Amino acid sequence: MNRRKFCKTAVAASVAASFPMLGCSRSEPPVATSANTSIRAISLDGVEIELERAAIKELGDAMTGPVLLSGHPDYDGARKVWNGMHDKHPALIARCQSTDDIRRAVDFARERSLLLAVRGGGHSWPGKSVCDDGLMLDLADMRNVDVDIAAQTAWCQGGALLSHLDDASLAHGLVTTAGVVSHTGVGGFTLGGGFGRLNRKYGLTIDNVLGAEIITADGKVRQVSADNEPDLFWAIRGGGGNFGVVNKFHYQLHPMDRNVLSGMLVWPVAQARDVLEFYAEWSPTLSRELYVGPVMATMPDGTGIIAMEVVYNGDPASGEKELAPLRAIGTMIDDGVKVQDYKVMQTKEDAMTAHGIRSYAKNGMVREFTQALVDDMIDAYIPDPRAAIFTHTAGGAVKDHGERDTAFPHRNAESMIVFFTGWADPAQDEEGKAMCKQWHAALERHTGGYYDNIEQDGDKSVDSNYGPNFARLANIKGQFDAGNLFRMNSNIKPA
Ligand SMILES: Cc1cc2nc3c(=O)[nH]c(=O)nc-3n(C[C@H](O)[C@H](O)[C@H](O)COP(=O)(O)OP(=O)(O)OC[C@H]3O[C@@H](n4cnc5c(N)ncnc54)[C@H](O)[C@@H]3O)c2cc1C
Repeated sequence: MNRRKFCKTAVAASVAASFPMLGCSRSEPPVATSANTSIRAISLDGVEIELERAAIKELGDAMTGPVLLSGHPDYDGARKVWNGMHDKHPALIARCQSTDDIRRAVDFARERSLLLAVRGGGHSWPGKSVCDDGLMLDLADMRNVDVDIAAQTAWCQGGALLSHLDDASLAHGLVTTAGVVSHTGVGGFTLGGGFGRLNRKYGLTIDNVLGAEIITADGKVRQVSADNEPDLFWAIRGGGGNFGVVNKFHYQLHPMDRNVLSGMLVWPVAQARDVLEFYAEWSPTLSRELYVGPVMATMPDGTGIIAMEVVYNGDPASGEKELAPLRAIGTMIDDGVKVQDYKVMQTKEDAMTAHGIRSYAKNGMVREFTQALVDDMIDAYIPDPRAAIFTHTAGGAVKDHGERDTAFPHRNAESMIVFFTGWADPAQDEEGKAMCKQWHAALERHTGGYYDNIEQDGDKSVDSNYGPNFARLANIKGQFDAGNLFRMNSNIKPA
């Protein structure tokens, strides 16, 4: 990457040193199946059950991909998810390689009422894509992206990462909204909404989903779009993994010059008031091309910073003009904004959020960036290199869709504040979580609702967070998954 380049900047050096780089890659297991005895497992309701050897063998023989059991050399690599705090041991891992593999694994779980976790990219903060003693349906071998250049669309498999989608699209001068860390999976990311640096121009990722192929709890393979199974199509755009396993998504792409004015502007935290007060007044006037949002963090040497993350998706000269008033505030430590490949920004946070980090996050939707919020941001700042707040700037095209148009309800937000802590030592787990909760609690009064894809422990009601969409979601869940097979997620109980 550009990672070397990125590491030169003050902010990158700070963040990269603050969070441990524990390696992003996993070994790819060979196709292998081994089940010598019946194994103990757990049902959807938490009751202990036995899985017969013959049935596991039958599943393994029928699938193209491997079924991995504890003791297999690839089992430990496959069960690992992004957040190192979730060290779980599934009874078996079905490493799917086709629609048919997914269907067989879903049937296997449903017929036995076996606890089921679905792994896309494995980035679930609360570790919902792995479970103890259940079946982990793993899509890590399903990462193909087919771009239709003429139609400006892409079919992307449900286990692909955002880097696969970005790379395949950008190779043809095309793009769609994708998130800020390239090793995040398209699966969970898209199903929950999909915030990214292009959302002010193109909307959330769900606003760019034209259709999907999904395997529902009954084992049926369904094509969903605005014309086909419209209720299910509506539900999977914001309702998370509640409705089935998405084998592939169909995305709308947009032409883009990948050389964009982008980078970080960094000031010492002592100037946070000047920067944030200006931002509060200025941000409602932003063009849809400009994505710019504040970050507060602490360097390893204890220096606090206030930074702005910038991507201008348009003519760089116009971007320079629009950005000029922000650049004129105070005295920066670093001005890294220049015309550079969009992928530089899309990968710059990869290292500091590497797989294996122990992490906790909370978030809140902000309807207005008020002066009162600025005051609290300054007062609540935690000078610890393990803690940071990021913002996802929304507004613009995100607001072109009404609250009920898709299952994702928070269309009025101008911004999402993400509270993030990361550490390496398990002994710091409680401290790390508490720090995140403390920062969030100090700003919570400025937020309304939260983004399911990031919220950690569901201490708030899923029902009220979906607002007017909850009843419809619960009905659709009842129609397609009455037994709540897909419950390892921000769970919507079937009506
Ligand atoms: C470092 C980091 C950066 C992030 N940045 C952003 C960002 O910029 N914007 C943003 O919007 N969000 C962001 N997120 C949140 C992210 O969208 C969620 O964590 C999302 O769930 C990740 O998807 P995944 O497939 O990697 O997750 P997984 O852990 O694999 O799955 C998460 C949930 O989705 C379900 N799921 C996954 N794939 C499928 C599928 N194919 N079919 C059915 N269900 C599936 C799983 O069952 C599980 O319930 C970030 C998260 C992390 C950890």
